[in-house]
Amino acid sequence: MSRKMVDCREIPSEANCTLTIAGEEEEVVRAAVLHAVDVHGHRDTPEFRTEIRKSLKPEPQPGRR
Ligand SMILES: [Zn+2]
Repeated sequence: MSRKMVDCREIPSEANCTLTIAGEEEEVVRAAVLHAVDVHGHRDTPEFRTEIRKSLKPEPQPGRR
């Protein structure tokens, strides 16, 4: 199962935040919205959720070595 991740460093904000959230898409969106509201003072709006969803990336797969 593939997971998604969002890297807070790639979301423009004043806070120098280095948080990375990874999990299933719905989990990541929910956690990222809570985090953004709590730490970054964002508003939980449908538009903002869409922004977060767009910034999701596939979690890098660990290589087999
Ligand atoms: Zn953050």
